[in-house]
Amino acid sequence: MENKVIPYGKQNITEEDIKVVIEALKSDYLTQGPKIKEFEDNFANYVGAKYAVALSNGTAALHLCAMALDVQKGDKVITTPITFAASANCVRYCGGEVVFGDINPETYLLDINSVKKLLEAAPKGTYKGIIPVDFAGRAVNLEEYRKLADEYELWIIEDACHAPGGYFVDSKNNKQFCGNGNFAELAIFSFHPVKHIASGEGGMITTNDKNLYNKLLQLRTHGIVKNNDLYTNTIEFAGGKENYPLWYMEMQELGYNYRITDFQAALGNSQLNRADEGLQRRREIASTYNQAFKNQAFIKGQSGAIEGHAYHLYVIEVEDRLGLYNFLRTKNIFAQIHYIPCHLMPYYRQFGWKEGDRVNAEMYYKHCISLPMYPTLTEEEQQFVIDTIDEYYTK
Ligand SMILES: *Cc1c(COP(=O)(O)O)cnc(C)c1O
Repeated sequence: MENKVIPYGKQNITEEDIKVVIEALKSDYLTQGPKIKEFEDNFANYVGAKYAVALSNGTAALHLCAMALDVQKGDKVITTPITFAASANCVRYCGGEVVFGDINPETYLLDINSVKKLLEAAPKGTYKGIIPVDFAGRAVNLEEYRKLADEYELWIIEDACHAPGGYFVDSKNNKQFCGNGNFAELAIFSFHPVKHIASGEGGMITTNDKNLYNKLLQLRTHGIVKNNDLYTNTIEFAGGKENYPLWYMEMQELGYNYRITDFQAALGNSQLNRADEGLQRRREIASTYNQAFKNQAFIKGQSGAIEGHAYHLYVIEVEDRLGLYNFLRTKNIFAQIHYIPCHLMPYYRQFGWKEGDRVNAEMYYKHCISLPMYPTLTEEEQQFVIDTIDEYYTK
């Protein structure tokens, strides 16, 4: 038992997954084939959004969202410091300024009150948007954020990388699934192997806005359009007579190549078929941890049982975090820390961010640790993790 490495997260590739990838490899398309649209349609359906755009990774998805919403040099955008750096970096790619709010110490999510404070302290129009993150798989209450965003004329990008299948319950008692586009203009997902659905590298944007959808399709492929109705050069210039010739296309904006391949989309699709199964297993694992840690004095805080939680991570806050982390490693249990506060990364310190600026996030960072959480974690392995933690605190 002690020789097998137990990581904090891990992909699960089945024989069926392998079969569909091989089929895709043997087909006429390696990229830009039919699997991509199929994956997009199925994913949009899964989260309850109208449109989905598959991309090369989640970071590219964030970048295109910021571009599609027209983030410009100097534009201020608010996000949480307890997230993967990409949630903030997308603003910088467009020359915007990242302003970090603080987290709510109970939920670990971006605290709406800290966002309100920032908005109230500046003239209206100072801020352009908010990027809340469904951290660890716990859904942000976007109904509340929408109200605030409307009041200040802001857009919302939901970073839902941790939460496919997660939801919050709105004021009318409806389940609002992460990425469904009912409150945020755009939402993004990642298919990196540690996430719920793996495609190798991969990402997705979901939206209910047709204009944004079309813009994203264009930006994904170099800013090129291939549509007679949208051309700005004349038919004559293009080399046609009554119609544009078939080869014709126009590059109208500075886009990128952020496409996913067909075989990655085939893998993503196959994984998506099992997403609910995996989610259910994640919730079982969380419930076992919750039960085991219910009355333990070494626990400072934990996410507990929350309706709609998608449990990408199972985070607890503990005393002597470093000691526990190192002890777990000696038993080949590779827990992880999510995250080092983003505002204190050297890159963001250069803009003036310093210790003490976001006290809840910084206090959380001192104690947080993410325990193994993935669908193929066995009951035996999980019990070993729980016993090892008990052993550390009782020895
Ligand atoms: C993984 C992740 C990303 C980036 O996704 P990639 O596919 O690795 O580029 C962005 N935000 C969050 C919160 C993530 O967990």
